[in-house]
Amino acid sequence: MGTKIMGTKGAPLGFHQITRHDGILKERVHDAYKAKGKLPEPTVCPQCGAVFHEGRWQWRQVPDNAHRETCPACHRIHDHYPAGFLTLHGPFFLAHRDEIMHLVHNEEKRERDEHPLKRIMAVEEEDETTLVTTTDIHLARRIGEAIHHAYQGNLDFHYNPEENLLRVNWVH
Ligand SMILES: [Zn+2]
Repeated sequence: MGTKIMGTKGAPLGFHQITRHDGILKERVHDAYKAKGKLPEPTVCPQCGAVFHEGRWQWRQVPDNAHRETCPACHRIHDHYPAGFLTLHGPFFLAHRDEIMHLVHNEEKRERDEHPLKRIMAVEEEDETTLVTTTDIHLARRIGEAIHHAYQGNLDFHYNPEENLLRVNWVH
């Protein structure tokens, strides 16, 4: 089943539409929250307890004498500056909202257990639309794809390369 692509009309400033398999999401892009130079190892995030070890943030026992520095995910949460924006709407969504949000949280948990930097920041319900914000663009994409896989509907992506922000829109 293909994904119906909606028009780019109305895309937020700085964003352009990309396809689901666009290589841009795999490129290494500048991300202010990740470009902080090399951290000493081990480093522990005092907010969430994630440990920077062997070049990446992991959930593990906090070593003695670890350096302390806030991880990029907690930094974004503190700044209220999400990387991913997933918008869910439409009559099917409204009729199945609880079930679909359950899937959203399950996907997040699965990702977060492996990758401490992939987290949901907030779930905001506004009129008939639910907005899920994430600390990582790939998490927003993954949740959108999981919903689309389970329920079909229309899924599209808009990417802002300057800021490394991704908007994912699902309507059904
Ligand atoms: Zn943290």
